[in-house]
Amino acid sequence: MSSKILIIGACGQIGTELTTKLREIHGVDNVVASDINTRKLELVNSGPFVILDAKNFNAIKDCCVSHNIDTVYLMAALLSATGEKYPMEAWDLNMNSLFHVLNLAKGGTIKKVYWPSSIAVFGPTTPRENTPQYTICEPTTVYGITKQVGERWCEYYHNKYGVDVRSIRYPGIISHKAMPGGGTTDYAVEIYHEAIKKGAYTCFLSKNTSLPMMFMDDAIKATIDIMEAPAESIKIRSSYNLSAISFTPKEIYESIKSHMPDFTIAYQSDFRQAIADSWPSSIDDTAARKDWNWQHSFNLDTMTAEMLKALRKKYND
Ligand code: NAD
Repeated sequence: MSSKILIIGACGQIGTELTTKLREIHGVDNVVASDINTRKLELVNSGPFVILDAKNFNAIKDCCVSHNIDTVYLMAALLSATGEKYPMEAWDLNMNSLFHVLNLAKGGTIKKVYWPSSIAVFGPTTPRENTPQYTICEPTTVYGITKQVGERWCEYYHNKYGVDVRSIRYPGIISHKAMPGGGTTDYAVEIYHEAIKKGAYTCFLSKNTSLPMMFMDDAIKATIDIMEAPAESIKIRSSYNLSAISFTPKEIYESIKSHMPDFTIAYQSDFRQAIADSWPSSIDDTAARKDWNWQHSFNLDTMTAEMLKALRKKYND
């Protein structure tokens, strides 16, 4: 029998594409999209959609009961850069939405939970190269603190109450359908848009800042793979390291320039530089590859080709 799924925060960068893919797999009527607003009209018009505040336990519960939901993907969050501007709001949304969904699973209303963590759980004292699964985690952003604490609670609810919660520490996600929602890796999306629109980009990180990244297709594949894996193969119930590619602003610039020789870049670091400097530059994801056979497909150049093709179509059509 197909799952009945609720996606909370479905209109965001990842939720938009996750909803589409899950609807392809499980059938449109079995995937309810929800968000605090209706800014993605194609999602609202392409299947069941409800307005839902992730901070409202009763509203989530009512929605799960009335739609017979068994699986929740919790994608609503305040991201790293926005979280630094609104620390208390980030704490409130990121923590309470997670508790609501974990408590619904604990109480038996739903059976399975997906909740994304982030490379933001790491901090300046973490080894930066090939960061291990188990290592020092002393995040210095509010966002990172919420993800680190969230991971502890996920593991706690699994060990103590048997909740089937699964999680990935996403790196920076690059995509062309929805714009990113206020993270430190947003530059790696903006740069493609500006290349097509203006032929020039001013980057808010310095040219040699290397960060772990991933093309959206790989992120969606990982999300679905971990959720479809047998429960016994999910050995880590806090959150899995996940890796695909690492690159610097200079390297992504060069990759774009190989398709667009006139493209130019300038560098003007802002407050996001300090956040980026506190994160790893590459990630060891051996556990995800071993436990549930994670494999990525896109490297920097195949991703650049895909991004430029899609954005040329978007802006020129
Ligand atoms: P996003 O900011 O693009 O989308 C978040 C969505 O949540 C938005 O549509 C927003 O309207 C919605 N939302 C905000 N407040 C809400 C509320 N109170 N109730 C319901 N919905 C609300 O974020 P994203 O990039 O799609 O990220 C999804 C998840 O993945 C988040 O947990 C994020 O921390 C994690 N993540 C993302 C990245 C990335 O690069 N995009 C990297 C690491 C982790």
